[in-house]
Amino acid sequence: MSGSDRSGTTVRQSRAAATSQTTAAPIAHNPRVRLAVISDIHANLYALEAVLEEIDRDPPDEIWCLGDTVGYGPRPNECCELVRERCTRTLVGNHDLVALGSAEVGLEDFNPEAGAASVWTSSELSPESREFLSPLEPTAMVDGFELYHGSPRDPVWDYVLDEVAVEDSFTRTEAPVVLVGHSHVATAAVLAGETIEGGVAPADFSAALGAGRWLLNPGSIGQPRDGDPRAAWLRLDLVSGEARFRRIAYPVARTQAEIRERGLPDSLAERLAHGV
Ligand code: ZN
Repeated sequence: MSGSDRSGTTVRQSRAAATSQTTAAPIAHNPRVRLAVISDIHANLYALEAVLEEIDRDPPDEIWCLGDTVGYGPRPNECCELVRERCTRTLVGNHDLVALGSAEVGLEDFNPEAGAASVWTSSELSPESREFLSPLEPTAMVDGFELYHGSPRDPVWDYVLDEVAVEDSFTRTEAPVVLVGHSHVATAAVLAGETIEGGVAPADFSAALGAGRWLLNPGSIGQPRDGDPRAAWLRLDLVSGEARFRRIAYPVARTQAEIRERGLPDSLAERLAHGV
């Protein structure tokens, strides 16, 4: 795949002790044959709307969301409503949990900007949004897939951003396809035999799911951090065996204006222009 200057995110290594070599057999009998996978919306409504519009041009059987529907952005309730309507499977992320006031995670785990946004989000969340987010889990098993907001090691807080984390994620899982979010970096890595290859997945990168096991991160809809400010999502076709990474432009300035109107930290608006 094409290179990236984000050091640590490109993986190419030999794996001496592969614990679970699998020839993936996706999954012709699986009724969920065409999937859209989204993640890390972060209350960025205009980015979410743009992605859903693109998804709807060639509708999949299901849309799955890997968590962090809220946090950072200005439209938490609208995003909860859309995700509730449109996604058949949704995970909870660390920002969702902090906004809910979950006992296990707290503001002390966040940097000041994220913390300020979480205080605002928490005060803003409607009873309906709380009701939607509260029962969600940070992980799910679905035939042929394992889903984690963070990583198999720690589904809430851990990032899969380097080769050690990728290898650890393969070691701890068995499914042909492992889906993670949380890092906001679109990622594709494959374990084939004893070798792991892959890294940052650029726009329109396409992976053939047939050989080996894959770890895929669709990237972030609402706050990309891989240098491409466009909203990221992932299309999976289990009949053709293709995973395709998608990016779609959205009106960044509208989200930035709303972040500023609400008095959220300016840096949260600024970073959206650069995808960092
Ligand atoms: Zn996130």
